[in-house]
Amino acid sequence: MRIPPGSTIGILGGGQLGRMLSMAAARLGYKTHIFDPHESPCAADVAARFTRAAFDDRSKLSEFADSVDVATYEFENLPVRPLEILGVKLRPGTRSLAIAQDRAVEKQFIEDCGGRVAPWRTVDRLEDVRGAVEQLGRPLVLKTRRYGYDGKGQAWIAAEDDPEPAWLAIGEQPAVAESAVAFDAEFSVIVARWDDGRHAFWDSAENEHGSGILRRSTVPCSKAVAAQVGEARAATLRIAEALGHVGVLTVEFFASSQGPLVNEIAPRVHNSGHWTIEGAVTSQFEQHVRAICGLPPGATDLAANGAVMDNLIGEDVYGWPELVADPRAHLHIYGKGEARPGRKMGHVTRLR
Ligand code: AMP
Repeated sequence: MRIPPGSTIGILGGGQLGRMLSMAAARLGYKTHIFDPHESPCAADVAARFTRAAFDDRSKLSEFADSVDVATYEFENLPVRPLEILGVKLRPGTRSLAIAQDRAVEKQFIEDCGGRVAPWRTVDRLEDVRGAVEQLGRPLVLKTRRYGYDGKGQAWIAAEDDPEPAWLAIGEQPAVAESAVAFDAEFSVIVARWDDGRHAFWDSAENEHGSGILRRSTVPCSKAVAAQVGEARAATLRIAEALGHVGVLTVEFFASSQGPLVNEIAPRVHNSGHWTIEGAVTSQFEQHVRAICGLPPGATDLAANGAVMDNLIGEDVYGWPELVADPRAHLHIYGKGEARPGRKMGHVTRLR
């Protein structure tokens, strides 16, 4: 199925990822239609159409489905059942969403695909958390099964800690308990996959986090990470194939002494791939459009010797006068309202 330029791509979610997808789609002559419950999501500023409705509003979703030629999503915390209205127009499909939005289902799926994860248990009550501490030891991190992102919905149980405060901190919700990984580095594998199985990887970025939020992505990665990329790519491809995924898929890894351990899957374009806008021949956003529209793959080679992408989080964005005065800095400001702490407001990429 080839969806030609001039067609309309529906995007569920109107954040910065939807905004950058819309901009890439527009460059290839597509129109985009954003579906989001917020009043003025930043993607709507650069899209042809915007529907403001809840993600489970079936009648609005049905109108949206009729108005688009293909639909995609830019974040994974969407209710799955209502999206079934979109049928085969939805790329990637609901399977990728359903698996990626529940940490326990996701970890089991990764293991079933032959990927490795840190030792983990599901926990539904405090006794389960105590049991996990006994079996896995400490430190441990509790992560809610659903709706966690950027370190939200997580609490650590340190070496000597009683587990109860962490259990209370995550709101006593169904969660996974996961062993702490003494990682050497973090990195991501981003792949675009077509419905006929063609696929293309980008160079893996080495990622630095602070308070659970991505701060910096660097390509090329260090030698220690590069040595683990082959195994990580193989696992990523098995995951993408098992999902029947069409479009961009990201898998975040810990580079550990035991090899690459999967942290999590994002069934979408990813913050650690923003460097591809200037740093690769084809960006993750354009490639996603190409894959879901059945256009041929673009090259994913580096467009320079390397790239460093820094996120502008919260008030960092107020540093824009200095950044815009740096003639070699590629500055992206997402046009979001208030610069709340922890909110991703923009990013800046410098090529090497
Ligand atoms: P997540 O939201 O699961 O991606 O976690 C955010 C960040 O917290 C990760 O990128 C790591 O830096 C850190 N983190 C998460 N899980 C673990 C773990 N099991 N061991 C060590 N660090 C972790």
